Amino acid sequence: MGQAVLILIKPDGLKKSLTGNILTRLSETKLEIVAAKMVRVSKELAQEHYKHLKDKPFFGEIIKYLQGDFHDRKKVMALVYWGNDAITKCRELAGATNPEEAESTSIRGSYGRITTSGVYENVVHVSSNVPEAEREIKLWFTPDEIIVDLYATKDVVKKELSCKIWADK
Ligand code: UDP
Ligand code: MG
Repeated sequence: MGQAVLILIKPDGLKKSLTGNILTRLSETKLEIVAAKMVRVSKELAQEHYKHLKDKPFFGEIIKYLQGDFHDRKKVMALVYWGNDAITKCRELAGATNPEEAESTSIRGSYGRITTSGVYENVVHVSSNVPEAEREIKLWFTPDEIIVDLYATKDVVKKELSCKIWADK
């Protein structure tokens, strides 16, 4: 059955120039990329993404990690992959959460590390089940940014919406 999954190449993956490598590994799954963008991650977005972990002792650190505070820039690459068993296939390729426990050939096993303060810098995020994938995809992307219709949408007219445009336009 077709499934969608959110993949994030976290700031350590970008800083270590692993983007091409990770995308190549993911292409082994034969899944389709249906959305992709670079994101400057706000504290609000990071906190919402990891809200189910807010009572964990490492919550503050993983928010800083996802925001890029440990890697020069607020930068994450967000992608949606779609296809058969997308979640299982991508989780398997990513490997276990703890990079020391992840299979050595997996993405996290190959490139992840545990920092001296105990954060698992594990290079990628992969949604772990169908409801989580839906919540996360809706958090990171608008319907217009995804090239297929994954979830129900509605039309609204937005008034007085403030946004940035190029200064010379
Ligand atoms: N994490 C950590 N220490 C832990 C557990 C998690 O640093 O003991 C970090 C790690 O970067 C992980 C993220 O928090 O990817 C989210 O944790 P989760 O349990 O959702 O693992 P995942 O779904 O990413 O495998
Ligand atoms: Mg998770």
